[in-house]
Amino acid sequence: MARVLAIGAYSDEDRAALQGDLGARMLAGLDAISALSVPERAEVEAMAYKGHAALDGAVMDLLPNLRLIANFGVGYDAINVGDATARGIRVTNTPDVLNDDVADLAVALLLAESRRMVAADIWTRAGNWPQGEFPLARKMSGRRIGVLGLGRIGREIADRLAAFKAEIHYFARSEKPTPGWQWHADPVALAAAVDDLVIAVVGGPETAGLVSAEVIAALGPDGILVNISRGSVVDEAALLDALEQGRLRGAGLDVFVNEPRIDPRFLALSNVTLLPHVGSATHETRAAMGALQRQNILALLGDEPLVTPVN
Ligand code: NAP
Repeated sequence: MARVLAIGAYSDEDRAALQGDLGARMLAGLDAISALSVPERAEVEAMAYKGHAALDGAVMDLLPNLRLIANFGVGYDAINVGDATARGIRVTNTPDVLNDDVADLAVALLLAESRRMVAADIWTRAGNWPQGEFPLARKMSGRRIGVLGLGRIGREIADRLAAFKAEIHYFARSEKPTPGWQWHADPVALAAAVDDLVIAVVGGPETAGLVSAEVIAALGPDGILVNISRGSVVDEAALLDALEQGRLRGAGLDVFVNEPRIDPRFLALSNVTLLPHVGSATHETRAAMGALQRQNILALLGDEPLVTPVN
Protein backbone atom coordinates (compact mmCIF):
# COMPACT_ATOMS: atom_id res chain seq x y z
CA MET A 1 0.00 0.00 0.00
CA ALA A 2 1.31 3.47 -0.84
CA ARG A 3 0.53 6.90 0.58
CA VAL A 4 1.96 8.55 -2.53
CA LEU A 5 0.81 8.04 -6.10
CA ALA A 6 3.11 9.29 -8.88
CA ILE A 7 1.38 9.90 -12.19
CA GLY A 8 3.29 10.48 -15.44
CA ALA A 9 6.54 9.73 -17.24
CA TYR A 10 9.41 10.40 -14.82
CA SER A 11 13.17 10.20 -15.40
CA ASP A 12 14.98 7.19 -13.95
CA GLU A 13 16.40 9.43 -11.20
CA ASP A 14 13.00 10.86 -10.26
CA ARG A 15 11.40 7.43 -10.36
CA ALA A 16 14.08 6.04 -8.04
CA ALA A 17 13.63 8.95 -5.61
CA LEU A 18 9.83 8.78 -5.69
CA GLN A 19 9.86 5.06 -5.02
CA GLY A 20 12.84 5.05 -2.66
CA ASP A 21 12.24 8.17 -0.53
CA LEU A 22 8.46 8.30 -0.69
CA GLY A 23 7.44 4.69 -1.40
CA ALA A 24 5.40 5.99 -4.30
CA ARG A 25 3.31 3.80 -6.53
CA MET A 26 3.93 4.74 -10.18
CA LEU A 27 1.11 5.00 -12.72
CA ALA A 28 1.45 6.02 -16.37
CA GLY A 29 -1.58 8.31 -16.46
CA LEU A 30 -4.70 9.50 -14.66
CA ASP A 31 -6.77 6.84 -16.43
CA ALA A 32 -5.03 4.12 -14.44
CA ILE A 33 -6.34 5.40 -11.08
CA SER A 34 -9.81 3.92 -11.54
CA ALA A 35 -8.24 0.46 -11.97
CA LEU A 36 -6.87 0.55 -8.38
CA SER A 37 -8.92 -1.17 -5.69
CA VAL A 38 -11.00 0.92 -3.28
CA PRO A 39 -8.60 0.24 -0.34
CA GLU A 40 -5.59 1.15 -2.53
CA ARG A 41 -7.20 4.43 -3.49
CA ALA A 42 -8.15 5.16 0.12
CA GLU A 43 -4.47 4.92 1.14
CA VAL A 44 -3.37 7.78 -1.11
CA GLU A 45 -2.66 11.10 0.62
CA ALA A 46 -0.41 12.77 -1.94
CA MET A 47 -0.17 12.70 -5.71
CA ALA A 48 2.95 13.61 -7.67
CA TYR A 49 1.51 14.78 -10.98
CA LYS A 50 3.44 15.17 -14.22
CA GLY A 51 1.26 15.71 -17.23
CA HIS A 52 -1.04 18.04 -19.13
CA ALA A 53 -4.24 15.95 -19.08
CA ALA A 54 -7.10 17.63 -17.19
CA LEU A 55 -7.12 16.78 -13.49
CA ASP A 56 -10.49 17.81 -12.09
CA GLY A 57 -12.89 16.95 -9.29
CA ALA A 58 -14.00 13.69 -10.91
CA VAL A 59 -10.42 12.35 -10.68
CA MET A 60 -9.91 13.77 -7.18
CA ASP A 61 -13.06 11.99 -5.99
CA LEU A 62 -11.46 8.65 -6.82
CA LEU A 63 -8.97 9.34 -4.02
CA PRO A 64 -11.08 10.12 -0.94
CA ASN A 65 -8.13 10.85 1.39
CA LEU A 66 -6.05 12.90 -1.05
CA ARG A 67 -4.50 15.95 0.66
CA LEU A 68 -1.97 17.17 -1.90
CA ILE A 69 -1.44 17.37 -5.64
CA ALA A 70 2.23 18.21 -6.20
CA ASN A 71 2.59 19.35 -9.79
CA PHE A 72 5.83 18.81 -11.73
CA GLY A 73 6.00 22.20 -13.46
CA VAL A 74 5.20 25.81 -12.65
CA GLY A 75 2.13 25.92 -14.94
CA TYR A 76 -0.76 24.14 -13.23
CA ASP A 77 -3.52 25.03 -15.71
CA ALA A 78 -4.31 21.31 -16.19
CA ILE A 79 -5.31 21.08 -12.51
CA ASN A 80 -8.69 22.45 -11.48
CA VAL A 81 -7.50 24.32 -8.39
CA GLY A 82 -11.07 25.37 -7.52
CA ASP A 83 -12.13 21.72 -7.39
CA ALA A 84 -9.08 20.91 -5.26
CA THR A 85 -9.69 23.74 -2.81
CA ALA A 86 -13.36 22.78 -2.49
CA ARG A 87 -12.20 19.30 -1.41
CA GLY A 88 -9.55 20.56 1.01
CA ILE A 89 -6.78 19.37 -1.31
CA ARG A 90 -3.63 21.49 -1.46
CA VAL A 91 -1.81 22.10 -4.75
CA THR A 92 1.90 22.89 -5.19
CA ASN A 93 4.01 23.67 -8.27
CA THR A 94 7.71 24.15 -9.10
CA PRO A 95 8.31 27.89 -9.65
CA ASP A 96 11.64 29.71 -10.16
CA VAL A 97 13.93 26.67 -10.65
CA LEU A 98 13.05 26.67 -14.38
CA ASN A 99 13.12 30.42 -15.07
CA ASP A 100 16.57 30.44 -16.66
CA ASP A 101 15.92 27.55 -19.04
CA VAL A 102 12.57 28.82 -20.26
CA ALA A 103 13.89 32.36 -20.70
CA ASP A 104 16.96 31.04 -22.55
CA LEU A 105 14.68 29.13 -24.90
CA ALA A 106 12.45 32.15 -25.56
CA VAL A 107 15.45 34.23 -26.60
CA ALA A 108 16.78 31.34 -28.68
CA LEU A 109 13.44 31.08 -30.51
CA LEU A 110 13.42 34.79 -31.28
CA LEU A 111 17.01 34.69 -32.46
CA ALA A 112 16.46 31.51 -34.48
CA GLU A 113 13.42 32.91 -36.25
CA SER A 114 14.93 36.40 -36.80
CA ARG A 115 18.10 34.97 -38.33
CA ARG A 116 16.29 31.99 -39.94
CA MET A 117 18.75 29.59 -38.33
CA VAL A 118 16.74 26.39 -38.85
CA ALA A 119 15.97 27.25 -42.47
CA ALA A 120 19.67 28.05 -43.05
CA ASP A 121 20.70 24.74 -41.49
CA ILE A 122 18.31 22.82 -43.75
CA TRP A 123 19.53 24.84 -46.77
CA THR A 124 23.18 24.09 -45.95
CA ARG A 125 22.58 20.37 -45.41
CA ALA A 126 20.73 20.22 -48.73
CA GLY A 127 23.98 21.21 -50.48
CA ASN A 128 22.78 24.63 -51.68
CA TRP A 129 25.83 26.68 -50.59
CA PRO A 130 28.00 26.15 -53.70
CA GLN A 131 25.16 27.56 -55.82
CA GLY A 132 25.01 30.92 -53.99
CA GLU A 133 24.31 32.73 -50.73
CA PHE A 134 21.48 32.14 -48.28
CA PRO A 135 18.89 34.99 -48.41
CA LEU A 136 19.41 37.83 -45.93
CA ALA A 137 17.56 37.56 -42.62
CA ARG A 138 16.41 40.24 -40.16
CA LYS A 139 18.40 41.80 -37.32
CA MET A 140 17.29 40.98 -33.76
CA SER A 141 19.44 43.24 -31.55
CA GLY A 142 18.17 46.73 -30.84
CA ARG A 143 14.53 46.10 -31.74
CA ARG A 144 11.40 46.99 -29.81
CA ILE A 145 10.27 43.81 -28.10
CA GLY A 146 7.07 43.22 -26.17
CA VAL A 147 6.88 40.74 -23.29
CA LEU A 148 3.29 39.68 -22.65
CA GLY A 149 3.24 38.69 -18.96
CA LEU A 150 6.07 40.07 -16.83
CA GLY A 151 6.05 37.32 -14.18
CA ARG A 152 9.00 35.26 -13.00
CA ILE A 153 9.86 33.93 -16.48
CA GLY A 154 8.79 37.07 -18.36
CA ARG A 155 11.15 39.14 -16.22
CA GLU A 156 14.08 36.85 -17.04
CA ILE A 157 13.22 37.08 -20.74
CA ALA A 158 13.11 40.88 -20.60
CA ASP A 159 16.44 41.03 -18.73
CA ARG A 160 18.06 38.87 -21.41
CA LEU A 161 16.55 40.88 -24.28
CA ALA A 162 17.72 44.13 -22.65
CA ALA A 163 21.25 42.74 -23.03
CA PHE A 164 20.48 42.49 -26.77
CA LYS A 165 19.96 46.29 -26.67
CA ALA A 166 16.19 45.85 -27.07
CA GLU A 167 13.69 48.53 -26.14
CA ILE A 168 11.48 46.57 -23.72
CA HIS A 169 7.71 46.97 -23.59
CA TYR A 170 5.43 44.74 -21.52
CA PHE A 171 1.83 43.91 -20.69
CA ALA A 172 0.78 43.01 -17.14
CA ARG A 173 -2.43 43.71 -15.25
CA SER A 174 -0.67 46.46 -13.32
CA GLU A 175 2.52 48.44 -13.82
CA LYS A 176 5.65 46.95 -12.27
CA PRO A 177 8.90 48.44 -11.02
CA THR A 178 11.27 48.12 -13.98
CA PRO A 179 14.38 49.85 -15.31
CA GLY A 180 12.24 52.17 -17.43
CA TRP A 181 10.45 49.55 -19.50
CA GLN A 182 7.21 50.71 -21.11
CA TRP A 183 4.00 49.27 -19.59
CA HIS A 184 0.90 48.74 -21.76
CA ALA A 185 -2.51 48.10 -20.24
CA ASP A 186 -3.75 45.79 -22.97
CA PRO A 187 -2.18 43.27 -25.37
CA VAL A 188 -3.31 45.07 -28.55
CA ALA A 189 -1.60 48.29 -27.45
CA LEU A 190 1.52 46.31 -26.61
CA ALA A 191 1.59 44.56 -29.99
CA ALA A 192 1.05 47.86 -31.83
CA ALA A 193 4.04 49.42 -30.04
CA VAL A 194 6.63 46.72 -30.74
CA ASP A 195 8.38 44.82 -33.52
CA ASP A 196 8.26 41.35 -31.93
CA LEU A 197 6.17 39.77 -29.17
CA VAL A 198 7.17 37.14 -26.60
CA ILE A 199 4.35 35.47 -24.67
CA ALA A 200 5.02 34.49 -21.04
CA VAL A 201 1.64 34.73 -19.24
CA VAL A 202 -0.05 31.86 -17.41
CA GLY A 203 -2.32 29.50 -19.32
CA GLY A 204 -5.83 28.44 -18.35
CA PRO A 205 -9.34 29.75 -19.00
CA GLU A 206 -8.63 33.36 -17.91
CA THR A 207 -5.98 33.92 -20.59
CA ALA A 208 -7.46 31.72 -23.35
CA GLY A 209 -7.29 33.59 -26.67
CA LEU A 210 -5.63 36.65 -25.07
CA VAL A 211 -3.40 36.86 -28.14
CA SER A 212 -6.29 37.33 -30.54
CA ALA A 213 -6.48 38.00 -34.29
CA GLU A 214 -6.47 41.70 -33.35
CA VAL A 215 -3.20 41.36 -31.41
CA ILE A 216 -1.61 39.48 -34.31
CA ALA A 217 -2.78 42.15 -36.77
CA ALA A 218 -1.36 44.87 -34.51
CA LEU A 219 2.02 43.13 -34.52
CA GLY A 220 2.00 43.34 -38.30
CA PRO A 221 3.72 41.69 -41.27
CA ASP A 222 7.29 42.34 -40.08
CA GLY A 223 6.64 40.93 -36.59
CA ILE A 224 7.78 37.69 -35.02
CA LEU A 225 5.70 36.02 -32.31
CA VAL A 226 7.31 33.73 -29.74
CA ASN A 227 5.23 31.61 -27.36
CA ILE A 228 6.72 29.69 -24.43
CA SER A 229 3.67 29.90 -22.13
CA ARG A 230 0.70 27.78 -23.23
CA GLY A 231 -0.88 27.17 -26.63
CA SER A 232 -4.28 28.18 -25.27
CA VAL A 233 -3.14 31.81 -24.88
CA VAL A 234 -2.99 32.29 -28.67
CA ASP A 235 -5.86 32.14 -31.17
CA GLU A 236 -4.04 29.42 -33.09
CA ALA A 237 -6.31 29.53 -36.16
CA ALA A 238 -5.69 33.28 -36.47
CA LEU A 239 -1.94 32.73 -36.04
CA LEU A 240 -1.89 30.07 -38.77
CA ASP A 241 -3.92 32.28 -41.12
CA ALA A 242 -1.50 35.19 -40.58
CA LEU A 243 1.59 33.03 -41.08
CA GLU A 244 0.19 31.40 -44.24
CA GLN A 245 -0.87 34.72 -45.72
CA GLY A 246 2.34 36.61 -44.92
CA ARG A 247 0.61 38.91 -42.42
CA LEU A 248 3.24 37.91 -39.83
CA ARG A 249 6.94 37.41 -40.55
CA GLY A 250 7.34 34.32 -38.41
CA ALA A 251 6.78 32.51 -35.14
CA GLY A 252 8.88 30.56 -32.66
CA LEU A 253 6.68 28.16 -30.72
CA ASP A 254 7.34 25.76 -27.84
CA VAL A 255 3.66 25.25 -26.96
CA PHE A 256 0.53 24.45 -28.95
CA VAL A 257 -3.19 24.01 -28.47
CA ASN A 258 -3.33 20.30 -29.20
CA GLU A 259 -0.06 18.89 -27.87
CA PRO A 260 1.47 16.56 -28.87
CA ARG A 261 -0.69 16.24 -32.01
CA ILE A 262 -0.19 19.77 -33.27
CA ASP A 263 -2.17 21.27 -36.13
CA PRO A 264 -0.59 19.87 -39.36
CA ARG A 265 -0.85 23.34 -40.95
CA PHE A 266 2.23 24.27 -38.87
CA LEU A 267 4.29 21.56 -40.56
CA ALA A 268 3.82 23.06 -44.02
CA LEU A 269 5.16 26.49 -42.98
CA SER A 270 8.77 27.58 -43.52
CA ASN A 271 8.43 30.72 -41.35
CA VAL A 272 8.03 28.91 -38.01
CA THR A 273 10.44 27.27 -35.58
CA LEU A 274 8.61 24.43 -33.85
CA LEU A 275 9.76 22.91 -30.55
CA PRO A 276 8.06 20.03 -28.69
CA HIS A 277 7.41 21.82 -25.33
CA VAL A 278 11.01 21.66 -24.12
CA GLY A 279 11.20 24.97 -22.20
CA SER A 280 12.47 23.35 -18.99
CA ALA A 281 13.89 20.22 -20.59
CA THR A 282 17.49 20.13 -19.37
CA HIS A 283 18.95 17.54 -17.01
CA GLU A 284 19.76 20.19 -14.42
CA THR A 285 16.38 21.90 -14.36
CA ARG A 286 14.27 18.75 -14.52
CA ALA A 287 16.27 17.38 -11.57
CA ALA A 288 15.57 20.58 -9.61
CA MET A 289 11.87 20.41 -10.48
CA GLY A 290 11.65 16.79 -9.34
CA ALA A 291 13.43 17.62 -6.09
CA LEU A 292 11.03 20.51 -5.38
CA GLN A 293 8.02 18.33 -6.15
CA ARG A 294 9.25 15.73 -3.63
CA GLN A 295 10.08 18.40 -1.02
CA ASN A 296 6.45 19.49 -1.11
CA ILE A 297 5.24 15.91 -0.65
CA LEU A 298 7.66 15.32 2.22
CA ALA A 299 6.47 18.56 3.84
CA LEU A 300 2.85 17.44 3.66
CA LEU A 301 3.57 13.97 5.01
CA GLY A 302 5.64 15.50 7.81
CA ASP A 303 2.95 18.11 8.62
CA GLU A 304 5.40 20.90 7.73
CA PRO A 305 4.46 24.03 5.75
CA LEU A 306 4.39 23.40 1.99
CA VAL A 307 7.39 24.84 0.16
CA THR A 308 5.66 26.27 -2.93
CA PRO A 309 1.89 26.26 -2.37
CA VAL A 310 -0.61 27.34 -5.03
CA ASN A 311 -3.79 27.33 -2.89
P1 NAP B 1 4.12 33.88 -13.01
O1 NAP B 1 5.33 34.38 -12.32
O2 NAP B 1 2.93 33.53 -12.20
O3 NAP B 1 3.75 34.96 -14.13
C1 NAP B 1 2.55 34.84 -14.77
C2 NAP B 1 2.23 36.08 -15.55
O4 NAP B 1 0.91 35.85 -16.08
C3 NAP B 1 2.20 37.36 -14.76
O5 NAP B 1 2.77 38.37 -15.54
C4 NAP B 1 0.71 37.62 -14.56
O6 NAP B 1 0.35 38.96 -14.64
C5 NAP B 1 0.11 36.98 -15.77
N1 NAP B 1 -1.28 36.61 -15.53
C6 NAP B 1 -1.76 35.76 -14.60
N2 NAP B 1 -3.09 35.68 -14.68
C7 NAP B 1 -3.47 36.53 -15.69
C8 NAP B 1 -4.72 36.89 -16.25
N3 NAP B 1 -5.85 36.36 -15.79
N4 NAP B 1 -4.73 37.78 -17.26
C9 NAP B 1 -3.58 38.31 -17.73
N5 NAP B 1 -2.36 37.99 -17.22
C10 NAP B 1 -2.31 37.11 -16.22
O7 NAP B 1 4.43 32.56 -13.85
P2 NAP B 1 5.83 32.09 -14.46
O8 NAP B 1 6.54 31.27 -13.47
O9 NAP B 1 6.51 33.25 -15.08
O10 NAP B 1 5.29 31.10 -15.60
C11 NAP B 1 4.50 31.60 -16.65
C12 NAP B 1 3.95 30.47 -17.48
O11 NAP B 1 4.96 29.92 -18.32
C13 NAP B 1 3.47 29.25 -16.68
O12 NAP B 1 2.17 29.45 -16.15
C14 NAP B 1 3.51 28.15 -17.71
O13 NAP B 1 2.26 28.04 -18.35
C15 NAP B 1 4.55 28.63 -18.71
N6 NAP B 1 5.73 27.75 -18.71
C16 NAP B 1 6.06 27.10 -19.86
C17 NAP B 1 7.16 26.26 -19.89
C18 NAP B 1 7.58 25.55 -21.15
O14 NAP B 1 8.16 24.47 -21.05
N7 NAP B 1 7.37 26.11 -22.32
C19 NAP B 1 7.91 26.07 -18.73
C20 NAP B 1 7.55 26.75 -17.58
C21 NAP B 1 6.45 27.59 -17.58
P3 NAP B 1 0.35 40.00 -13.43
O15 NAP B 1 1.76 40.41 -13.31
O16 NAP B 1 -0.57 41.05 -13.93
O17 NAP B 1 -0.14 39.26 -12.22
